Amino acid sequence: MKREIVMFGSQILRKPCPPVEEVDDEIRELVGDLFDSMRAAEGIGLAAPQIGLLQRACIVDVSIQQPGYLPVALINPKITAHEGEQIGEEGCLSFPELYGDVKRYAWVEVEATDINGETFKTAGDGFYSRALQHEIDHLDGKLFIDHISSLKRQLMRGALKRLKKEGEAWDRENA
Ligand SMILES: [Zn+2]
Repeated sequence: MKREIVMFGSQILRKPCPPVEEVDDEIRELVGDLFDSMRAAEGIGLAAPQIGLLQRACIVDVSIQQPGYLPVALINPKITAHEGEQIGEEGCLSFPELYGDVKRYAWVEVEATDINGETFKTAGDGFYSRALQHEIDHLDGKLFIDHISSLKRQLMRGALKRLKKEGEAWDRENA
């Protein structure tokens, strides 16, 4: 089911997500909702707090940008190895139409649990690596604007202020 994507300004995007204790139907439904919501918004990744759920789960799908990488759901993901650096433009479905250059690891390896409760590892570079790091950040309450230059953030100030009102309104409605 497609869910509303929570905008910047909501407190839920700043909260660290507790680990998923058991991969059950509720978690599988959450993952399905993440895919439905991400696809409707034409994103390349989405994390549970962005649909209002504090669970350590996220998805990445860069299959259009980087053919060969299949869509992936990651429960309790953690970066287990990394190499190099890359700087590239990044956006976020919780910040529509805002982009900024973010420095990330060039390559990462991530260990996670899949929707059947099995542990697996996935690794990659480019967009895939960037998207994995971006989504895992969400699970720790970190946002891409935390990584961009203060000058660029300054330039976004007006847009961020407007967004923040949307996020705060969501908090009031869902308190
Ligand atoms: Zn994001």
